[in-house]
Order: sequence, then C-alpha cells, then structure tokens
Amino acid sequence: MEIKNIFSNFKNGLIKSRENLKGKIEQLIKKSKDKEMFLEQLEEMLILSDIGVSATEEIVNYFDKINFKEYSRNDFEYFKDQLKRMLIEMLNHSSNSIEINEDRLNVIMVVGVNGSGKTSAVGKMAFKFKGEDKKILLVPADTFRAAAIKQLDILANGAGVEIIKSTENADPASVVYDGIHAAKARKNNLVIIDTAGRLHNKVNLMNELKKIKKVAKKEAGENASLEILQTIDATMGQNGIFQAKSFHESLGVNGLILTKMDGTAKGGIVVAIKKDLNIPVKLISFGEKLDNLHYFENDKFVNALID
Ligand code: GDP
Ligand code: GDP
Ligand code: MG
Repeated sequence: MEIKNIFSNFKNGLIKSRENLKGKIEQLIKKSKDKEMFLEQLEEMLILSDIGVSATEEIVNYFDKINFKEYSRNDFEYFKDQLKRMLIEMLNHSSNSIEINEDRLNVIMVVGVNGSGKTSAVGKMAFKFKGEDKKILLVPADTFRAAAIKQLDILANGAGVEIIKSTENADPASVVYDGIHAAKARKNNLVIIDTAGRLHNKVNLMNELKKIKKVAKKEAGENASLEILQTIDATMGQNGIFQAKSFHESLGVNGLILTKMDGTAKGGIVVAIKKDLNIPVKLISFGEKLDNLHYFENDKFVNALID
C-alpha cells in the first residue's frame, strides 16, 4: 500500500463537499449587497450542507452580531477562518477513541440499517486494526442472507484475518456465542460482529440485536469491553440521524461510523450528528477499498472541508 494513495484518497473523499462549499462561499461574499442578504444566503448554504437547524442558527447569529464590514471588506479568508473556528468548536467534544486493550477481550458490534455499510466497515476495521497488531476474529451474525456471510468471508480474506463459520438462517445470537468462545480459545483480542440491518420488521430486528448484545456481554465476561458502533450512510442526510436515534434508544450506541462521505457534497452532516445526537463520530469512510476507513479527527476534517 502506497502512502501517497492514502492521502489522495482522503482528499478525494471530501472533494464533493469541499468544492460545493467553496463555490457557495465565494458567491455568498461576492453577491451579498448587505448584511441581511448575506445572512439569508448563509442560512440557505448551511441548511443545504446538512449541518442541521441548530448549528445553522448558531452560526447565523454569530455573524449577525459582528460588523458586516469585517467579513465583507476582508473578503472570504476572514469569513472562512471564523466559520472553521466555529465548526471545530462545535465538534470539539467528539472523542474518536476506540479503546482496544491488549490484555482483555475487546468486542465491537456493528449495527445499522441495510446498505449503510456495516459489512464493509467490519472488513475495513479488520484491515485497520490488523495493521495495529491486533489479533482479530470476525463474526458473521447477519445470517439473514447467505450473501452477507460470503461478503464478510471475502473481506476477511482480503484483510488477512480470521473469521468463524456461520450458515444462513442460523440463530445470530448463537453464532455470537460460538464466536466469543472461539476467540477466547484462540486468544484473539478483538472480536468484530457483523449484524443484519433488515428483518421482517423493526421490532424483530431490535430484539435480535438486543439478544446479541446480551449474549456477547455475558460470554465475553466482566473484564471485556463491548462497543456498539453504528454505521450511518452520509448520503442519507437527516434521515440518517433519525435512524441513529432509534438504534440508540434500543441499544445504546457508543459511536458512529460515517460511511460514503465520498458520495455526498453534504459533509455538514457531521455537525448535525454531534448537535442532535451527541454520539461521537469515531470512524469515517471515504470509499469502497479496505484502506478507506479513518479515525475521525475534528480539525483535520473541518480543514479539509473548507480550504
Ligand atoms: P450493509 O448492508 O450495511 O452491510 O452494507 P454493505 O457493507 O454491504 O455496503 C453497501 C454498499 O455500500 C456496498 O456496495 C459497499 O461497497 C458500499 N459502501 C460502503 N461504504 C462505502 C463508502 O465509504 N463509500 C462508497 N462509495 N461506498 C461504500
Ligand atoms: P495522518 O493522520 O497525517 O497520518 O494522515 P491521514 O491519512 O489521517 O489523512 C490526512 C489528511 O486527511 C489530513 O491532512 C486532512 O486533510 C484529511 N482529513 C480530513 N478529515 C479527516 C478526518 O476526519 N480524519 C483524518 N485522519 N484525516 C482527515
Ligand atoms: Mg451487511
């Protein structure tokens, strides 16, 4: 893997959002004749970038308080700096840490709606954490479709990590039971569980996920850690936030994996998530390759979004 590629992937990953904002900010500054017009256009730009209503209000109020001349005369460098500073501040308390401790069993359970990128994220995490010398076992607990098991098998192979066997229609909780016991016997220190995103109905799905969580917790034991990470498809906009709420209410979600950031011009979703949910975005995915997953880093993100 070439270092150069990682960088270009990352920059490319945010290109849609960055270009979109850049054009809009230029227009905003150039075309606004007075403060009122400026604030109106600013509000529209922020709402369209999916930043959310409350963050938009906060930013518009900030610019309303300062002298219009300051940001109009000093063109958009000044404006961008202020905007960046505010966004970084808003995201400030997001913690991106995923604690994987060598001397205990660490379990990560990945949940989320169908198509939001769970199985891919499990494969990418395996690849990432293998690079950090973790001894990983994958558990295919989406037994709803045979294709999901096969997909994870291929990803495990690509990442060069172990995976336990599972069959279509097997009870997901018993697959997890087997997985945790296998990990203990084989001395793996990181178990990553893939789950289903769709069942016959939502109540069934939540009940199944609760059962998996319970089994994982019990079998892993008191000393183990259990993190529930939810994938959110960034292209879904506010709808993704709505989904996150419902998973969080049922399961208690520790962190988010924001996927498909390469496919949207609305990178502002990160801010809305922070404001509305207060669940940290821990990982962010910019493409379909195994190395397209990164820790979310607040200031790097904002600086790549607006530059
Ligand atoms: P699941 O149903 O939640 O397990 O979702 P999958 O992991 O199967 O992903 C659904 C589709 O989204 C697949 O075609 C993935 O390749 C694609 N996908 C996942 N993450 C990303 C990403 O960050 N960027 C892009 N462009 N595609 C992604
Ligand atoms: P490193 O952290 O310097 O080793 O490099 P990364 O592979 O993490 O990516 C570096 C570049 O990605 C940064 O210089 C940023 O411009 C950009 N970037 C944008 N958003 C993020 C983010 O959320 N996390 C990380 N790690 N990088 C980001
Ligand atoms: Mg899947």
